[in-house]
Parts: sequence; C-alpha cells; structure tokens
Amino acid sequence: MRTSTPSTKYKIHPTIRTCIACRTHENKNNLVRIVRTAQGNLDIDSNGTLAGRGAYLCKNVDCWENGFVPQSLQDSLNLVNPPTTKTLSVLTKKARDIILESINGKKGHKND
Ligand SMILES: [Zn+2]
Repeated sequence: MRTSTPSTKYKIHPTIRTCIACRTHENKNNLVRIVRTAQGNLDIDSNGTLAGRGAYLCKNVDCWENGFVPQSLQDSLNLVNPPTTKTLSVLTKKARDIILESINGKKGHKND
C-alpha cells in the first residue's frame, strides 16, 4: 500500500486568480474557469474538476459579454489559434447559466 502525505497543510488563504476580462483578483471560488482539455477543446469547468490549463472570469455577465477579448483567452490558455466566435458563444452561454445559478443560489429559498 502506497502512502502519500500531503506536502502542504490545510491552506487558510483562498486561492486568488485574476479575471482575464477585468483583471480583478478574486477568490477562485467566485470565478468561472475555462479549461483547455487534453483534446485541445475549450470547456467551462463548472465543478472545478477538469484537468488542463485554465483561465478565469468573474461570475459577472458583463465580463463575459463585454470585457472578454479572445486574445486574452488565447494567451492565458496558450492556444495555437484564437477561439472561434462559435466556441466563445457556447462558453458564454454555459457561463451565463452558472452565473445565474449562483445568483439564484445566493438568494436562498425557492418558493416554487
Ligand atoms: Zn471580471
């Protein structure tokens, strides 16, 4: 049986990442992660479990729809080509769902 001890103790400080749109530093739990998968595709990492190189954006629709420069994503993810408009619109749509979900979740009780 192989034992592996964690090299670091429990981290008190949250992991801070930078939104690639507005450059705000945020706790990564408050950001949406875009990941470049092993296949070279871009996807939204909604559970924080996907492996691959990631870029972060705020849970703020404005960052996705206005502040989002494909070049930033290309640079952050080390892409050979900038993401296509179609890819971006799919990502933005997924992100918007996550953002809306998190806003609704924060409101607490659902009455329906
Ligand atoms: Zn932002």
